Amino acid sequence: MDTEQKDMENASQQRRQALAQARRIVLKIGSAVLTNSEDKSLDRGVFCRLIEMVSKLRRDGRDVIIVTSGAIALGRSLIGCERPDREKSLPTLQALAAIGQSLLMDYYERELQYYGLRCAQLLLTRADLEDRTRFSNARRSLEALLEMNVIPIINENDAVTCDQIRFGDNDTLSARVAVLCRADLLIIMSDIDAVYTDNPKINPDAVRIESIDAFDERLDEYAGDSSGDVGTGGMITKISASRMAAKMGVSTLILQGKRPKYVLQALEGKSLGTLLFASEHRQTLHKVWLESLMVKGKIQCDDGARQAICMQGRSLLPKGIVDVDGRFAEGEAVELIDKTGSVFAKGLALYDADDIRKLAGHHSSEIEAILGFHISDVIVHRDDLVLI
Ligand code: GLU
Repeated sequence: MDTEQKDMENASQQRRQALAQARRIVLKIGSAVLTNSEDKSLDRGVFCRLIEMVSKLRRDGRDVIIVTSGAIALGRSLIGCERPDREKSLPTLQALAAIGQSLLMDYYERELQYYGLRCAQLLLTRADLEDRTRFSNARRSLEALLEMNVIPIINENDAVTCDQIRFGDNDTLSARVAVLCRADLLIIMSDIDAVYTDNPKINPDAVRIESIDAFDERLDEYAGDSSGDVGTGGMITKISASRMAAKMGVSTLILQGKRPKYVLQALEGKSLGTLLFASEHRQTLHKVWLESLMVKGKIQCDDGARQAICMQGRSLLPKGIVDVDGRFAEGEAVELIDKTGSVFAKGLALYDADDIRKLAGHHSSEIEAILGFHISDVIVHRDDLVLI
């Protein structure tokens, strides 16, 4: 083994050992982990071992936040139906989620009680975390629960979400939660046990990736198409979730979820699953939040404005605007594009789309005269801008 390889192995080992220090852990538990593949009923064996593991984490003094899937799968098992097509039967899916969610919580409550632990349900939608006030409220209520030694059990509020306002998969939701509660580690417990260089079911030479920077571009090649039929997230969504978490310095561990004891072993430094680690470059919580927002329109900027924003960290002035695309209100997220149409930044617009159209190319001193009112000299303030 050459020295470079040895150094890499040492670094990887150190990162693994550092996992023992994780005080606050978000555990994402997938539907395929919780349920039996045949009838989608609860896999009781796995579930009992899972909660036993959670109780050990708590005994070690760690905060545990659970992001759990399984509502729709359990709803299906109760009603006895196939997974309905999302586009054709959204109300059926929503109803199944509502049916399964209470059953899911009942299972958690009973099993945790056996270990003397309490839990609380939090159902979130994308819209909840996109609104700054609701984001802060969700954060405060999570903190309050943890302070009361209660385990938050989180799922997407599938019964009321439609495509425009949903996360779509719990991998993404778990990363948002990890950011929200400033976790030290996100553990994605899935039916996929690790990231491999190729599909191990097809290629016997596929190698497990032990640990890798979440932003390493090779991950995009390794991801392939690996979605199953009960949950919604494949490897691609897990990798992009890990990147979202990594921006706030949170590393992600992907583990075989049907073996809950792997969590404890991995926290003791054992090489299991794949560690997608966060490098040092942290962004502020505000910038990570900005990046997660749904884009409502585009503002095309001239070269001067692009340069000033990208190189000097300036705000976007009306003078630098060439064109505006889409309908958006004041305070909504927009993408900034250059003349070729490529996106270079994202931020919050201080005026609505129609007003910005009127202001395009004008000097800031003309704002009041053109609109009849004045909110700010800039269209997107640099504090509300994130470079892409
Ligand atoms: N929220 C969905 C459920 O509880 C699952 C979404 C997912 O599997 O990622 O059934």
